[in-house]
Amino acid sequence: MIIVMERNAAQEDSRMVGEKLQEKGFQLHVSRGVERTIIGAIGERTEAIMEMFETLPGVEKVVPIVQPFKLASREFKEETTVVKVKDTLVGDGNLQVIAGPCAIEGRDKFLEVAWAVKEAGATMLRGGAFKPRTSPYSFQGLEKEGLEILSEAGRETGLPVVTEIMDPRIIDLVAEHADLLQVGARNMQNFFLLRELGKVNKPILLKRGPSATIEEWIMAAEYIISSGNEQVIMCERGIRTFENYTRNTLDLSTVPIIKQLTHLPIIVDPSHGTGKWKLVEPMAMAAVAAGCDGVMVEVHQNPSEALSDGPQSLTPDNFRTLMGKVKKLSGVLKG
Ligand code: PEP
Ligand code: MN
Repeated sequence: MIIVMERNAAQEDSRMVGEKLQEKGFQLHVSRGVERTIIGAIGERTEAIMEMFETLPGVEKVVPIVQPFKLASREFKEETTVVKVKDTLVGDGNLQVIAGPCAIEGRDKFLEVAWAVKEAGATMLRGGAFKPRTSPYSFQGLEKEGLEILSEAGRETGLPVVTEIMDPRIIDLVAEHADLLQVGARNMQNFFLLRELGKVNKPILLKRGPSATIEEWIMAAEYIISSGNEQVIMCERGIRTFENYTRNTLDLSTVPIIKQLTHLPIIVDPSHGTGKWKLVEPMAMAAVAAGCDGVMVEVHQNPSEALSDGPQSLTPDNFRTLMGKVKKLSGVLKG
């Protein structure tokens, strides 16, 4: 539930309410606005408890949060969360474009593609170092060496860098090299990992699980936020349906839904969402039109020779074309 304090309620009143909530076993999340204090209380809520709190001095009203997710919900926090990735803001109304190869395959190749996407206008650089491959015999990534290449490319180009974290045991290592930590689709419900990421002082990019409902996905964000890290960006990357022409079915309805239900920014990954490079640009455009805060696309200098996800990777030239179009569209939408 949310306890809305009266405008100009005394600090002492808010403190008393907080103490009482803690006595009753609630977890507190206090937000002190310019005009009033709002206290989010997570715990067992009953009618009697709500009524009791409504009678306390300084309390204007007590509002139940009906959704199973609390801290992520728009009811709990009205203003959109702007996530800071180094100096780049996600969710402030400007479109961010994350680009780079599925996997880092070597230093020189990665630096080359990093400069290419930067010159085309990308605002963040991606590159997988630990790859969650379906087959244990497929290329698994350059691991630690990949992380070092990634951070070097970030320093050289000035772009913030994002990479996937799969294992809670190496969070510190990955966080040392990346500006944004990606939870991959396959790990969306790795609750232990999510909890550990809640304790990290780096923003998190939370991909939707291939079979996750929207509610399950937001509950995964709730794990991270309730463990202490509110800097979460949602990423729609397609789900499994009966359709098998595309690799996944990109569910663009999640863009307005996530914005209605939560205060978190959302980006869209049309590369994994479709699995086909020819669909990446039109679906990126559709995602921007739906109101997303950013897109993430895979780019490789030579897709036919990529060690992973070549069929969905754009060449630098195709990426430049996409960039020009999405920029134009987002400009038109801003008016
Ligand atoms: C990726 O972004 O490289 C990736 C593996 O994506 P997903 O977890 O969405 O499959
Ligand atoms: Mn990939």
